[in-house]
Amino acid sequence: MPATPSGAIDLGGTKIEARLFDAAMQTLELRRVPTPTGDFDSFLAALVGQIRWLEGRAGDPALPVALSVAGVVAPDTGLCTAANIPITGRPLGQALQAALGRALPLINDCMAFAYSEAHGGAGDDAGDDAGEGAGEGAVLGLVLGTGVGAGLVIGGRIPPRHAGLAVEIGHVGIPARALARHGLPLWRCGCGREGCFENYVSGTGLRRIAAWAGIEDADPARLAARIPRDPLAARVMAIWTDLAGEMLDTLQLLLDPQVIVLGGGLSNLPDLPARLQGALAALRLGQARAPLIRVARHGDSSGARGAALMARAGLADSGLRAAR
Ligand SMILES: [Zn+2]
Repeated sequence: MPATPSGAIDLGGTKIEARLFDAAMQTLELRRVPTPTGDFDSFLAALVGQIRWLEGRAGDPALPVALSVAGVVAPDTGLCTAANIPITGRPLGQALQAALGRALPLINDCMAFAYSEAHGGAGDDAGDDAGEGAGEGAVLGLVLGTGVGAGLVIGGRIPPRHAGLAVEIGHVGIPARALARHGLPLWRCGCGREGCFENYVSGTGLRRIAAWAGIEDADPARLAARIPRDPLAARVMAIWTDLAGEMLDTLQLLLDPQVIVLGGGLSNLPDLPARLQGALAALRLGQARAPLIRVARHGDSSGARGAALMARAGLADSGLRAAR
């Protein structure tokens, strides 16, 4: 991999963050602007402005840049789907290419996060049973934030997919047994269906469980801090942990990763890897070997870092060479 500067755009519902990395993947420059949420044209203008800023700071109009996008890009049409960015139904990649005169890879943000943590991050040794580095195993990046999403890297690469979906575990249905165990209702999801994992296991879900149990406006960090002296807070966290364990169980049964790397705001909850390891152990099928559960090494910048790494290597989301 050539060691050159690279850039990334972290495209989210509140901000468009541009980050310039040096050859050692340290952040050299960072600029955030609010995401225009009204119409596509003003959004695109702000995005192009951020990319031009990166090129200018690097002094290189051909600077490798990739976008980490909180959404899904259809591989066949390029049409995007995103909950909080005005790009749904728009071919963002083609519009950017027309504006910039070159094509930039668009990468799902959870996939970019997983890629970063699989390369020099908390999952770097996945599948490396001999301790020789550069593991060939599967790394699942699990982002527990306002919503829930995941990305998968196998043998250092993002596997090709049919519809451009990431690991959309947030919109997989939670098992009936899990809700029955706690007497929880089926909650409606933003995707229009009911009972998705995201409604229970995200930060929003944790607040919702707390409200259902009688704790209003429960910030997850404050809730965790109350546990030693508040049995109700402890019960809420125990329910949440059990449901998160169900989600990990589903992920293990389907994908069987060596390492699960946690990101997003909830990954800062105290002792979370040990709590989830325990919850998963209580549910795990037979004598199946447990995945390692770790917190991300690169924190909030991991998605941007993964996108920049992929830009530098000339990779698109599918792991195929990007058109340039
Ligand atoms: Zn859903």
